Amino acid sequence: MKTILVTGGAGYVGSHCCKEFAAQGWTVVVYDNLYRGWRDMVRWGELIEGDILDTAALQAAIARVKPDVLAHFAALTYVGESVEQPGLYYRNNTLGAFNILEALRTAGVDKMIFSSTAATYGEPLESPMPETHRQLPINPYGRSKLMVERMMADYADAYGLRFASLRYFNAAGASPDGDIGERHEPETHVIPLAARGALRDDYQFTIFGDDFDTRDGTCVRDYVHVSDLGRAHAAAADYLMKGGAAQFFNLGTGEGTTVKEIADAIEKVSGKPLPRTVGPRRAGDPAVLVASNARAQEVLGWTPTQSSIDEIVRTAWAWARKDAGCAGG
Ligand code: UDP
Repeated sequence: MKTILVTGGAGYVGSHCCKEFAAQGWTVVVYDNLYRGWRDMVRWGELIEGDILDTAALQAAIARVKPDVLAHFAALTYVGESVEQPGLYYRNNTLGAFNILEALRTAGVDKMIFSSTAATYGEPLESPMPETHRQLPINPYGRSKLMVERMMADYADAYGLRFASLRYFNAAGASPDGDIGERHEPETHVIPLAARGALRDDYQFTIFGDDFDTRDGTCVRDYVHVSDLGRAHAAAADYLMKGGAAQFFNLGTGEGTTVKEIADAIEKVSGKPLPRTVGPRRAGDPAVLVASNARAQEVLGWTPTQSSIDEIVRTAWAWARKDAGCAGG
């Protein structure tokens, strides 16, 4: 029996990955403080309520669970908040990950999956971006995550840690079964907000800038279905179990979608008009962010299969209706 300990398993990406780990035969144990996670998203294993900043509780959980692999999702993810309160991000994301590295080393656990991000790259110099692209993050969130990548690499060299650092582009969509989906408080992501605009008369969807140098003037992002992310994490866990070396992987589709195309897709799937206004650009938004996923394809054997915009928006819309309590689910 193989066991995976999942910090942040009550969050959006973490919960979808737990579902996939369980489907692949893993015993899943979640370690989450429920600060921004949700108890009802923990459905595929035991929940240990604990904080990664509580080193004694973290060590006790690792000692009891004896995981083959630790998957670390627990982190704060708002760029704007990280600019206003960088200490919060360095404490939770960077110090929290350091606590995990030390706890793993002490316990003799040598395999780890890390939720990294395209935000570690900063301003793109090329598109699609390979993993070898310069990493020069432009906000504290990206820096708090990049430092973890650097620490993991040092622990790999010094102590033999084997890790898969997975750099997500834009995680999106919801479980096709409708059991779990994206729920952030506050919500800042474009697809749930566009869905909100179609669902509610009192919410006005705003496009953040339409004067970018892109095909329709709005920002291009690489949206990858959260269930595809789940399959990539399961593939990464297998890779480490088979002796795979420490490595960094982009998780994206290689295709970009504009904000206007998202809004149009929401209109199509909902059958409702989505009124939109154009507002100013959001600080720090590059025009285009698209992944090269060649390494994940070659090394992990992973290709996204559920990440067409229609499938992403279809599942996101169904979940948004259900989570808002709309009749019919
Ligand atoms: N965006 C937008 N309106 C919104 C929220 C986001 O136009 O209400 C744009 C944002 O400027 C970016 C894209 O949608 O170009 C994706 O933003 P999101 O916050 O979902 O993800 P990010 O790319 O910041 O990780």
